[in-house]
Amino acid sequence: MGDIKAETSYSSVFKKAYDFTMAEEIKESGLYPYFKPLQATDGTTVNIEGRDVIMAGSNNYLGLTNDPRTIEAAQKVIEVYGTGCTGSRYLNGTLDLHLELEEKLAEFMRKDSCVLFSTGYQTNEGSISTIADRNDVIFSDKDNHACIVVGTQVSNAKTVRYRHNDMDHLRTLLEREDPSVGKIIVTDGVFSMSGTLAKIPELVQLADEFDAGLYIDDAHAIGVVGEGGRGSASVFGLMDKVELISGTFSKSFASLGGFLVGDKAVIEYIRHKSPAHIFSASMPPANVATVLKSLEILQQEPWRLERLEEISNYMRKELKALGFNVWTSQTPIIPVVIGDMISCFEFWKDLFEAGVYVNAVVPPAVPSGQALVRTSYMATHTDEHLDKILEAFRKVGLKHGIIDENGQSLID
Ligand code: PMP
Repeated sequence: MGDIKAETSYSSVFKKAYDFTMAEEIKESGLYPYFKPLQATDGTTVNIEGRDVIMAGSNNYLGLTNDPRTIEAAQKVIEVYGTGCTGSRYLNGTLDLHLELEEKLAEFMRKDSCVLFSTGYQTNEGSISTIADRNDVIFSDKDNHACIVVGTQVSNAKTVRYRHNDMDHLRTLLEREDPSVGKIIVTDGVFSMSGTLAKIPELVQLADEFDAGLYIDDAHAIGVVGEGGRGSASVFGLMDKVELISGTFSKSFASLGGFLVGDKAVIEYIRHKSPAHIFSASMPPANVATVLKSLEILQQEPWRLERLEEISNYMRKELKALGFNVWTSQTPIIPVVIGDMISCFEFWKDLFEAGVYVNAVVPPAVPSGQALVRTSYMATHTDEHLDKILEAFRKVGLKHGIIDENGQSLID
């Protein structure tokens, strides 16, 4: 240790950072697809590096981030409340707007009560780590979002991870635990990389059989799927069987923040005990007003959800017909599997140059050899946008030898 310090003039704690050269190397090769600054956007088109490209990689599912009504709602409340709350909900940071939003979301989600957090990430990290403690066992899907994983770690509860969407494996793990111990099953409602729905009916059945609580992170499901956009449990008519459902405002709700709904006692416990809630400043007024307006628009304009479903089905069908592997997608998140990491970055770059922005997703976020570009759609994409996206995929897919002219996949 002493040697390293003498040689390098930095503390050995920083060695890992100085040794981390992968991002620089990829940047030098001209293939780095991350942290690209958007210079302007109208939602469906973004300007990056002076070039207008179609956005096919945003979570702006309802297309509300640039809607004149959400913009106006945000502007108006800044006049009344200012730009920030400068304190946590517990102390000086509660506005009447926060209470109004909690009430409206509880009502929308047909649950007793709601608590807001300042990000979706904090919602899951802060709720899971608070509701489960060292005496409990958490059963967590292996593909759950990072904020759930961190929440399980912070909780001090024993955590067992079941194979992705594998209900037999979950049953085996549930059977192994002491029947008297507190248990909670946690899953994404829609998995963020694959766009696959969780097996809610089976999860409800297992939770019931083993007397476990059920927690669903519906970040990519509320305002996207289910009756009126009520999320994954609503797809199966099972909302009343899920004790806790979380959502985020950074996707369909065109803002930033998150929420948890459930029974009043549980929500009040989390409100008073979760460090992520108590020790972090509350959502700024403009963010809250945007969500209130988005929720209103979601309910007034059902065409948005219909259009979203229609175009997701269209894109899944057409990408498959071109020969692409869209994995197990069932929602507006449609991944396209490319293969190894560098091929994925090359594909991404050519697609960008063909006028389409997507997200490159590489291991460890996905299994090795399954690097993919994640596409996602919004209600405001026009047919013309979609056809341009498909044409770019066809051209780049042929160039990279991923598909052939007959719509066959050329990769495993
Ligand atoms: N859960 C899931 C499944 C997500 O995909 C995300 C964000 N991508 C989050 C939670 C965190 O939400 P936010 O970005 O709003 O903090």
